[in-house]
Amino acid sequence: MQKLSLVVLILLLFNISNLMAVSPASVHKSEKDQVREIVRHVIESNDEFVKKLPSDYFAQLIHGQKPIATMVTCADSRLHTHALDIHPDGDLFLVRNIGNQVSTAEGSIEYGVRHLHTPVLFIIGHSSCGAVEAAMSKPAHLEPSIWRELDTIKVIGNKSDDHAQVKESVESNVNHQVSTALKKYDKEVKEGHLTIIGGVYDFRNDYSQGSGRLVLINVNGETELTEIHKMSIVNFK
Ligand SMILES: [Zn+2]
Repeated sequence: MQKLSLVVLILLLFNISNLMAVSPASVHKSEKDQVREIVRHVIESNDEFVKKLPSDYFAQLIHGQKPIATMVTCADSRLHTHALDIHPDGDLFLVRNIGNQVSTAEGSIEYGVRHLHTPVLFIIGHSSCGAVEAAMSKPAHLEPSIWRELDTIKVIGNKSDDHAQVKESVESNVNHQVSTALKKYDKEVKEGHLTIIGGVYDFRNDYSQGSGRLVLINVNGETELTEIHKMSIVNFK
């Protein structure tokens, strides 16, 4: 009887120590669980999205697209189209990359402007842009592919921990991207077929207009806010 108790005790201790050990296999399982949760989140979000729609919703999308605007935004996860267009499906020909750049997405933008003939090209930066901050501070550890994609970001100064300088650099970059687009689409703009609008999605309330507001800072190269506000295309009062 005593022998049997000892065997049970040894077996119990062995199992407890096994449970307490963090083996590489259990770490692996936890990463797998994390991935499973992410995939579940996307699948369930998609399910919820589809279930809310009327049954004929996709009929209008099947035979092609006629978007109202080409929009270039930063790839940052804090900036999404639902903040700028409540129903973006079919509306926005969306191009995203780090730092909302024109040159690194030239073909995609050209398709929106010259083949889908969107009358507006939006270029939207955002507060606290990591790509802009990287272009300012130039951290040495970045991979060559990322360096190449920071090439056409135009910043002011190198103090990426200075909010005022980051705000100025975000603006400077949007304005630079607009002027790059103006050079390429000069004919379309002069003929009145295209309007190029630069803006900043301000989730940090840098412009004191409330967090999450879109602030327009450039219309076809005009950057004086008082002049922009006089334009009928952006004045809705
Ligand atoms: Zn960004």
